[in-house]
Amino acid sequence: MQIPFLDLKAQYETIKQEVDAAIQQVIASAAFAGGSFVEKFENEFAIYCKCDHAVGVGSGTDALWLALLGLGIGAGDEVITVPNTFIATAEAISYCGATPVFIDVNENTYNLDSTKLEAAITSRTKAIIPVHLFGQMADMDPIMEIARRHNLFVVEDACQAHGAEYKGCRAGSVGHAGCFSFYPGKNLGAYGEAGAVVTNDTDLATKTRMLRDHGQSRKYYHRYIGWNARMDGIQGAILSVKLKHLDTWSNDRRINAHLYNELLKNVKDVITPYEAECARHVYHVYAIRIAHRQQRLQQLTEQGIHCSIHYPLPIHLQDAYLSLELKHGKFPITEKCADEFLSLPMYAELTKNQIEYVAQQIINLCQ
Ligand SMILES: *Cc1c(COP(=O)(O)O)cnc(C)c1O
Repeated sequence: MQIPFLDLKAQYETIKQEVDAAIQQVIASAAFAGGSFVEKFENEFAIYCKCDHAVGVGSGTDALWLALLGLGIGAGDEVITVPNTFIATAEAISYCGATPVFIDVNENTYNLDSTKLEAAITSRTKAIIPVHLFGQMADMDPIMEIARRHNLFVVEDACQAHGAEYKGCRAGSVGHAGCFSFYPGKNLGAYGEAGAVVTNDTDLATKTRMLRDHGQSRKYYHRYIGWNARMDGIQGAILSVKLKHLDTWSNDRRINAHLYNELLKNVKDVITPYEAECARHVYHVYAIRIAHRQQRLQQLTEQGIHCSIHYPLPIHLQDAYLSLELKHGKFPITEKCADEFLSLPMYAELTKNQIEYVAQQIINLCQ
């Protein structure tokens, strides 16, 4: 049996007619860069996230960068985030001219540990970026409370958390802005690169809209020095089709995750994901922690089970951030997770048989 880590072709088979028709419509109307299909998706996605505005951009990285720029973050500022994330979270901070300041994560949720937040705040701190890692939202109440007290912005990195909830609130709707990626492998994936910023702040939405389109207030009149970070029309049209299926797919991911949990719950050397009671986890990634991870990864690959690691090297230990001079040992939970995480195949189309096969192989290896 071969079980791919992700199977985008299987998903396409279930929506082929709708997607093909949507692409044809865009080509027929020639609304390729921004335009009506992007606007339609922006309206639908804002409603989906229970936010007033959504601004379609070129990628999740663009979304984070432009949201920070839109909030006025720049040289000399500090932005607090976690080292247990994809590098784009930190890159967006650096590309504003600001400095990322890391704090460690909670050992159960793998998300920002708010008890470490206040000690990291200085007179230069302007914002906090909690990352909703793997599809579970960070513990937002204490983060928002501390941010209010210190007058800081909160920008949610919701790139892995489309449709996730915390105490009934949708990912992206709790902070001042929420940033999403529609990279093909994400829970809501385009057929190329795309992203969005969602917010209830009308001024921020207006500014982000300008920044993604060369800072234009109207064509060829430039209010800001912006960038070209528009969303493609074809991506907007495809995302509109796929958004209608997202809740079904998320529910299927949750069913699959709960089956893995059940099958792996008493396996020695394995820690299954923790789902907080107040959270609706959407399992973008189903990551277990496992002893002898490298060896297990190799053995599972030999059995046809294709796993992944998110992420093998924390950001503070990457060469790109050597200048921050953060040594090994500085963020012990993040570092331990990086050594133990193993992401198992996870998607809506995964079958019960496939999940049982994966679990059985893990059980055999861990005996
Ligand atoms: C995917 C991802 C991003 C970046 O999104 P792109 O669309 O690939 O630019 C940022 N943060 C996190 C946590 C991500 O998973």
